[in-house]
Amino acid sequence: MAEPEKNKLEYSPKNCWEVYNEPEHIQSMDQLAERYLDFLGKNKTEREVVAYALERAKQAGFVEGFQSGADKCFQVLRGKTAFLARRGRCSLEQGFRLLAAHGDAPRLDLKQRPLTDDLALCQAKTHYYGGIRKYQWLARPLAIHGVVALKSGRVIPVVLGEAPGEPVFSVIDLLPHLAAKQNEKKLSDAFEGEKLTLVMGHRPEQNTEGKGRNLAKARVLSILNQKYGIDEEDLYSAELEAVPAGPAVPVGLDGSLLGGYGQDDRICVFCGLEAMLESPAAEFTQCLIIWDKEETGSEGATGAGSRFLEYCLNDMIRAWEPQVLFSRMITSAKALSGDVHAAMDPDYQDLHDKQNAALVGYGPCFCKFTGHRGKYAANDADAEYVAWVRQVLDKAGIPWQMAELGKVDLGGGGTVAKFLASQGMEVIDCGPAVLSMHSPFEISSKVDLYATTLAYKAFLIS
Ligand code: MN
Ligand code: MN
Repeated sequence: MAEPEKNKLEYSPKNCWEVYNEPEHIQSMDQLAERYLDFLGKNKTEREVVAYALERAKQAGFVEGFQSGADKCFQVLRGKTAFLARRGRCSLEQGFRLLAAHGDAPRLDLKQRPLTDDLALCQAKTHYYGGIRKYQWLARPLAIHGVVALKSGRVIPVVLGEAPGEPVFSVIDLLPHLAAKQNEKKLSDAFEGEKLTLVMGHRPEQNTEGKGRNLAKARVLSILNQKYGIDEEDLYSAELEAVPAGPAVPVGLDGSLLGGYGQDDRICVFCGLEAMLESPAAEFTQCLIIWDKEETGSEGATGAGSRFLEYCLNDMIRAWEPQVLFSRMITSAKALSGDVHAAMDPDYQDLHDKQNAALVGYGPCFCKFTGHRGKYAANDADAEYVAWVRQVLDKAGIPWQMAELGKVDLGGGGTVAKFLASQGMEVIDCGPAVLSMHSPFEISSKVDLYATTLAYKAFLIS
């Protein structure tokens, strides 16, 4: 007699590597990962991410501004947030599909008057942006990406420390021999924001009057002047970001993991963009929004708390279906807040409730609610909507998982989901699980990149 079958009523998440093991899946996955690593290694600011997205959208036939004659349109604000839409067959009154992700990432911003000169070193003071663990930014090669805006109105793009052989920058750390006192401090007190200072130069300027004063700084300023035609005052109107230098790379002997800076949340921007550009027109209008300022609370004109999305949707209605009621459209809309989830680290399993935690390789992770301790400040997706997204992914044969961010009394965090929810949309967080989140070298799984792109595509055409 055959053994009784295992209880079919029980659920267990699927490992994506077992699902996508056919050669054609592996090949598409490898190609996608190669494009992703190239994107991730080059685009390290919110502006660079938006510029990349718009360049690809234009190549795919998207036009700027909503027009009645164009079915694929985009809008951009300040070069930091962008909205893309492809018109669907049914009326906007029945809603739309929206993918939302953010292009900003934690980093060290240069202060507005950054340059100092002391002890034969020119350094740049910084003010960190977003949630960093300060010690992770010490004693490692950093690059500077950003812009300098001139009084003339010209905006000069800056990328320093990325070309092969080009000098990089670094924050100096203490040697262990002198760190005895620091070692006794609490981690939160041991590293000061004011001491996250970048090494910018050392050799004194030769042809300068008043020898002996600020000569290393003078030389840094003269190199900046030669390169960009700027002076120290111009740095007041600059946005310069110190970010990890170098390319994004495969990780592990089998290359099955992907390592690089800014995967929170550029992996979702990338998957969303791939899905958006490759999807055919479908029943519902498809939209993608890339936001800025998520890491500092979504404030400001380019963050999810702004009116930008509302303005874009109003323009879309005016161009495509002027009779449609905004409130009806938005309360019928379905959205995915594309953001990464913290993957469980084998060494820190005790921080998680293991059966409600995310694993790398198990596909896009849904997070029904965010917030912290008692679900404060959370979006909480309706059960009906969770059932709907479950059905979309299952129909497309895409593995998925669902998790909370850490144990109840430990975890916490927010995403852009609550801003979409407050407008009346159905929304749930959905993105790949990432290891070493918010560090200068975050790690994701190649198979999750693939599965998330497929999931976003399935959602857009649903
Ligand atoms: Mn994020
Ligand atoms: Mn984050």
